[in-house]
Amino acid sequence: APVIGVLALQGDVREHLIALAAADAVARPVRRPEELAEVDGLVIPGGESTTISKLAVLFGVMEPLRARVHAGMPVYGTCAGMIMLADKILDPRSGQETVGGIDMIVRRNAFGRQNESFEAAVDVRGIDGDPVEGVFIRAPWVESVGAGAEVLAEHDGHIVAVRQGNALATSFHPELTGDHRVHSLFVDMVHAKRATES
Ligand code: GLN
Repeated sequence: APVIGVLALQGDVREHLIALAAADAVARPVRRPEELAEVDGLVIPGGESTTISKLAVLFGVMEPLRARVHAGMPVYGTCAGMIMLADKILDPRSGQETVGGIDMIVRRNAFGRQNESFEAAVDVRGIDGDPVEGVFIRAPWVESVGAGAEVLAEHDGHIVAVRQGNALATSFHPELTGDHRVHSLFVDMVHAKRATES
């Protein structure tokens, strides 16, 4: 089974570790560059993107992470993790950096105060069967994508799931629902990448 890390600086790390294990991956937390070097793919969890960004710099994983993502390591970001994978943030806080990897512009906390947290059925391209239960918590949306990025889902006319090559991002949190289909899609991406390398 592929070894998939969860960036464990801040956020809902444990829920992703459980979801990845349920999707037949070997899952482990990643904090340091040596740990990053040992995984076949990485999840960046939900949480607070400014905090994750600052801790990634502090722990010395930001640069190695950028290098691996740009070299094609499969990576999946949820919510704050989606923000981390955006090439550009519309409204960054001071000192907030991203890993990048997806040619998109994200808007933080986009779904607004009166609607800080909600659930909605989301049709995700590439996932068969029922719509995914989208859990949105102070979620970003994607303002626009570049030519290389594929929109996988929209909610209320806003882009909420995107893929570009080996990078996948969702505004919502499948790790909180017990439905592991999005994690399985990501595990399949990691398998496919490993197959091209052996
Ligand atoms: N609003 C948070 C941020 O800007 C993301 C929220 C989440 O990950 N649930 O990082």
